[in-house]
Amino acid sequence: MTGALPTGVPAIEAVDVSRTYELDGVSVPALRGVSLTIDPGEYVAVIGPSGSGKSTLMHLLGGLDRPSGGRLVIGGRDVTTLSAPELATLRNRTIGFVFQAFHLLPRTSAVDNVALPLVYRGIGARQRRDRAAAMLGRVGLGHRLDHRPNQLSGGEQQRVAIARALVTDPAVLLADEPTGNLDTGTGEAVLELLEQLNAESGVALVMVTHDQEVAARARRRIAVRDGLIRSDTFHDRPLSGGDGGPATLDPAPSAEPRSASGSGPGHPSGGSGGAAGATGRLPRTSGGPERAPGPRPDAETGSGGAG
Ligand code: ADP
Repeated sequence: MTGALPTGVPAIEAVDVSRTYELDGVSVPALRGVSLTIDPGEYVAVIGPSGSGKSTLMHLLGGLDRPSGGRLVIGGRDVTTLSAPELATLRNRTIGFVFQAFHLLPRTSAVDNVALPLVYRGIGARQRRDRAAAMLGRVGLGHRLDHRPNQLSGGEQQRVAIARALVTDPAVLLADEPTGNLDTGTGEAVLELLEQLNAESGVALVMVTHDQEVAARARRRIAVRDGLIRSDTFHDRPLSGGDGGPATLDPAPSAEPRSASGSGPGHPSGGSGGAAGATGRLPRTSGGPERAPGPRPDAETGSGGAG
């Protein structure tokens, strides 16, 4: 269940990708030649200090932006060959997005928020609602279909956003600090949900985080610094299990090569990478206090992979 990805094709492939912003006549090299492959089913954490290029990388991997140089192939398509509408269609078919601030439409019910990306697929209203309702059921919100975002807790809003990201059955779920607006307990439940969906559906989970403990749960950890990948390592067991050693990801000055278990882009267990850390049980709706993040006024345009 990995979207429209042809068999054997990496979900995303970046070769020497760079991105330079032009700001007031000054060139800002945000990414300076990054190569990586994301395979179906992987569970990847991207970590690095502020300003290191994580968001730029996520925007590129998600087809929201184009590289200044290098080769970027998403779902088997080279993005440089695509027109803007073609890239939007590819994004809608291949990528789901989850953001720290949820970006739900504030005056729209949960089920209609989740159904939105299906509008761009030309799917009829009834089927959209059915699929959205089923997806909300999978994230534990089958009883909240007609609630609007302000009638939901922060954790529930993020579940709606996750359902919206996955309703199109994408190959990759890109999550940018998905627990950043949530208290610890709620964030843990959302992480467990993401890990469970990754393990069950085979969607690759690529998560940007500055939280070492969160990153330590992923099977693969990519450390970014100064616009470069400083290390890219696979781990058979999550470090968060308690006896897995220190949860440090700070890369050594010389970039650590992939560990023995990850001999190349086609990591043998990449297809079930999310099993690590997955609980195998359906998380319950969030409990405990939460910060009220509140949808932003500009959230109307923030559609989860809808184009
Ligand atoms: P991170 O997500 O790791 O904090 P970013 O990808 O946001 O890093 O930024 C990487 C570098 O690129 C930073 O130096 C940042 O200031 C710069 N940058 C990001 N976006 C822009 C932009 N739109 N215009 C100019 N510079 C930018």
